[in-house]
This record gives sequence, structure tokens and C-alpha cells, in this order.
Amino acid sequence: MAAHDHALVLFSGGQDSSVCLAWALERYARVETVGFDYGQRHAVEMTARQVVRRALGERFPTWAARLGGDHVLDMRGFGAIAETAMTAERAFEVTARGLPSTFVPGRNLVFLAYAAALADRRGAGVLVGGMCETDFSGYPDCRRVAIEAQGKALNLGMGQDFRIETPLMALTKAETWALAKRLGGEALVELVLEESHTCYRGERGARHVWGYGCGDCPACGLRAHGWAAWTDQGRPALVP
Ligand code: ZN
Repeated sequence: MAAHDHALVLFSGGQDSSVCLAWALERYARVETVGFDYGQRHAVEMTARQVVRRALGERFPTWAARLGGDHVLDMRGFGAIAETAMTAERAFEVTARGLPSTFVPGRNLVFLAYAAALADRRGAGVLVGGMCETDFSGYPDCRRVAIEAQGKALNLGMGQDFRIETPLMALTKAETWALAKRLGGEALVELVLEESHTCYRGERGARHVWGYGCGDCPACGLRAHGWAAWTDQGRPALVP
């Protein structure tokens, strides 16, 4: 059976998965990362992954000793099926089904299945993902019920006892910043602010108080709102 002190983090280089990576490094003896190349419109996300990994290793020596390899899986075939505003030049809007046009059908389900297959081969018993149902963008596969159901299916189908950890599931974006502060102090807040990338348009030109991005796509909106909410609360040091 896979080891429960060995985690594989689904890591996109965004704000949420960067905090998840720090959370895992604080908790597990060995931590590897996996990223998915599904034909995102912008390469900037894949670059941010490497920058964040390197910065975490340089600035947090305890975590550097635990940080293992990075894996990038080619998911372009999946991206071709699931064409959305994330992978094609389409507008950010709400579709007739009430889902955002950035929704990639089944993305988290497919990513978790691939991550579990990789975890099996690597001997990692814990999968860590940044899914969040609090400030979520209307994606049904970010909900706890969907993730828990898939965890059962993966364990039954792979004969495993994986644990799927989603430390951000119940947190607001403001509370995610507070978690970053608790894990790594101002140094981690600064690192996530400066180096993580969330913007759907892949823009890193303008530096806002909440980090880089176009400032008006849905992802920038969430990030800006979360930062404002946290700073309005006086940047509390602890998650309740
Ligand atoms: Zn943006």
C-alpha cells in the first residue's frame, strides 16, 4: 500500500495550489507535485509552477528537504475534447446550463484519476488538491461530495487506500491567505502574492495589490476580492 507520509500535490502554480503545496510540505515527509498540460491558452501557468517550486525550496529550508520531484502529464487529448474559455478563444460568460464558460467538463475528475495512477506508481498515499466549494466558481467537480465520491471510486477501482486531502475546501479566499500566513508567515504570503499565477488571460504586466493579472477576468476578480476581504479583516494570523 502507498505510504501516508508521502503526498502528491495537484499543483497548477496558482494561488490555491501554491498554498496547498506549502500545507503538504508542512505535514508530510515527502511531497511530489503533478501538473497537467491540457492546452491552456497561456504558458505562463506552467512557468509559474517552476518559479513557485524553486522559491519555496530556496526560502523554506525545512520544506526544501521534503520537496521531491515534479511531474507534468500531457493531457492535450482531454483538452481537445473539453474545449472551453480556458483552452480556446472564447468569452468569459455563463452558459445556458448555468456553468461558467471556463468550466472544463470533468476536469478535476480526470486530473484526480491521472494523479491517483501516478501516486500508485510513486508509492504516495495522499493526494492533495486545492478544490474549494466556498468561493468556488460554480464548478460542480470542486464540491466535497464529488471529491469524496471519486475518492471511494479510486480506492475501489485501484485497490488502494488513498486519502484525498482538500485543505481549502471550506475556506474563503480570505481564509486561504490567512492559512498561507499561518504556514509560512509573511514570507509565504509574499511568495504567493508575487509568484503564483491565477489570471485566466495569462497577463502578468500590471502588479495590483493582490498580485499580477489582467484585473477583470473571473479569476482575477476572485483573487482581488479575497485579498481585499483579508486585508479588511486586519489580516488575521490564524484560521478559525
Ligand atoms: Zn485576469
